[in-house]
Amino acid sequence: MQTGKCSIAIDGPAGAGKSSVARILAERLGFLHIDTGALYRVLTLQVMREGVKPTEAVDVVRVAKAAKIQIVPGPQGIKVLLDGEDVSDAIREPAVSENVSLVAQHAEVRDYLLVLQRQLAADGGTVMDGRDIGTVVLPDAELKIFLTASAEERARRRMKELRTQGHKVTYKDVLLSIRARDNLDAERLVAPLRAAADAIPIDTTGKDVDAVVEEILGYLSAVGGLEGCSMDS
Ligand code: C5P
Repeated sequence: MQTGKCSIAIDGPAGAGKSSVARILAERLGFLHIDTGALYRVLTLQVMREGVKPTEAVDVVRVAKAAKIQIVPGPQGIKVLLDGEDVSDAIREPAVSENVSLVAQHAEVRDYLLVLQRQLAADGGTVMDGRDIGTVVLPDAELKIFLTASAEERARRRMKELRTQGHKVTYKDVLLSIRARDNLDAERLVAPLRAAADAIPIDTTGKDVDAVVEEILGYLSAVGGLEGCSMDS
């Protein structure tokens, strides 16, 4: 495990490849991978289970404060626990995807999860992925990457993933759902999906995950590699 304080922020829209890239990059560097989308998803799952309206900020925050959310790194990627129950698969269900951007739009909810995200990254040695990591959560990250891909390619990737999980989905529905989520995430008033001014954009259309990881490792060397991540930085 590297001991440096270096943080790498990876942002981008749904299906751009953030989580896969972040997971492999973290493995290669001996860093901790924190998938912040999982935090918004687990909260959404609990909101749905409690029958709370995702549009009601006060109720959503109440649910957030009462739930015990844990992110546990493991060899197969992170495990997400909700009050001790492993909900890693449940949070990827389409119904959660449909509601998560509504939950994520509230300033109060974001403030609450911001504290949690910064605590998770406090020791450094992290690759954190999400929508506002480079702009809001870790604005001082040593390296910021903004991943994109065409909506069509992102929908194809997501459809493959959902079908592997046994969901009967059509390409058209997945594309519509991805576009709807893009719009909500990019147009919300608080911490919208946006590349930080100092983020490096990478278009992942037609590229495999390993190629993108190599590209990022190249950028990391260009900013001084891990030596720029001293214990004191
Ligand atoms: O990354 P993933 O697609 O799992 O994220 C699910 C949703 O969580 C996003 O569509 C977005 O609404 C929200 N999110 C966010 N800020 C983050 C990470 C995720 O608003 N940092």
